[in-house]
Amino acid sequence: MSYNYQCDTFDRDHLWHPYTSTTNPLPTYKVKSAKGCTITLDDGTELIEGMSSWWCAVHGYNHPVLNHAIEEQLHRMSHVMFGGLTHDPAIELGKLLLKIVPPSMQKIFYADSGSVAVEVALKMAVQYQFAKGNPRKNNFVTIRSGYHGDTWNAMSVCDPVTGMHSLFGNALPVRHFAPAPQSRFHGTWDSTDIEPLKAIIEQHHAELAGLILEPIVQGAGGMRFYHPQYLREAAALCRRYGLLLIFDEIATGFGRTGKLFAWEHAGIEPDIMCIGKALTGGYMTFSAVLATDEVATTISDHEPHAFMHGPTFMGNPLACSVACASINLLLASGWQQKVKAIEQQLEEELAPARSLPQVADVRVLGAIGVIETRQPVDMAWIQRRFVEEGVWVRPFGRLVYVMPPFVIRPAELHKLTTALVKIVSEIKN
Ligand SMILES: *Cc1c(COP(=O)(O)O)cnc(C)c1O
Repeated sequence: MSYNYQCDTFDRDHLWHPYTSTTNPLPTYKVKSAKGCTITLDDGTELIEGMSSWWCAVHGYNHPVLNHAIEEQLHRMSHVMFGGLTHDPAIELGKLLLKIVPPSMQKIFYADSGSVAVEVALKMAVQYQFAKGNPRKNNFVTIRSGYHGDTWNAMSVCDPVTGMHSLFGNALPVRHFAPAPQSRFHGTWDSTDIEPLKAIIEQHHAELAGLILEPIVQGAGGMRFYHPQYLREAAALCRRYGLLLIFDEIATGFGRTGKLFAWEHAGIEPDIMCIGKALTGGYMTFSAVLATDEVATTISDHEPHAFMHGPTFMGNPLACSVACASINLLLASGWQQKVKAIEQQLEEELAPARSLPQVADVRVLGAIGVIETRQPVDMAWIQRRFVEEGVWVRPFGRLVYVMPPFVIRPAELHKLTTALVKIVSEIKN
């Protein structure tokens, strides 16, 4: 079947879409509605959702429980400022979060999006070091192949190559980068893996406020799964040299990797942790930065006795209420068995791709399946082919990957994996 999709001309002429040209944009497909794991385009084409709208929609779309939560809250109030006011949705969400995040996380800062959460976490670390009497400890170390968002400081700790640091030149703060861990999640631990990070921290600790990384799964920076021992050793280095350990669990949180949060794979608790994306089940933009009592108390005990950040939409009640509903739904859903079943099916059904000449690697962890190709894919072509096969998958570079909603049925997932292997086998180069 050859699919001739008509793109919306207003959209093409006036709306900026992520990571594409305005003069010669990649096609956009117009969505009429979405329900469960199905996205329906305006011409009636139905697509099985393989991306969870970039890690978010873990319960699928148009979920009655989430719809209800947001509607109920809408009739009470959609928003009030968080300065000097508070409300039940924020309190309820806080109580829920404390039950599921690392026990050392005791203070919660609500923010607007993942990138803002990362900005907040970095500022928190710098202000903590300042309060400790270490104003020179104001820079950061991270690992390559990371992704932490597109705002200024978040971008500065993204992988310098895929994060396009060269474009922004001197305007971007210069961070320290250790190579990405090489020991694979399911492989054996190579003790030399930590050496480059150790060398950087030993040499520069006097100017380092913290280490920020995505625990276990590096998402948009490379879809890599690394060994839990790396986190244990990195945490020990942070403790020894007075760096705060910041986990960015914005992509890994809420069950995606097979644990509720990825730190559990290593048993290492951070000083600061960012969550977002699936926090609201994909309904609204929202995030939170969690911190230890130590971090919060140190900041608060020192001039100006407050953490200096306060977004306008902090603690937005609609977002808090849908986040509460989403977390309760997740915890009651038997998510562990569901993610396990998705993992097994992904492993079995993506395995045939290993023998394709186009493929460099196939890897699966939790509800994440990745086919790494040898050459970067032709985006316009591959996107159209996926739509022709009735699935929604959005690759980047050499990564063709899926992270479906946890509610996906085996037959739907089968359609997704079949399309993935088939279309990768059609790549010509
Ligand atoms: C998506 C993502 C972010 C940025 O979140 P936004 O809501 O897009 O700003 C930060 N860190 C990680 C690990 C992410 O996957």
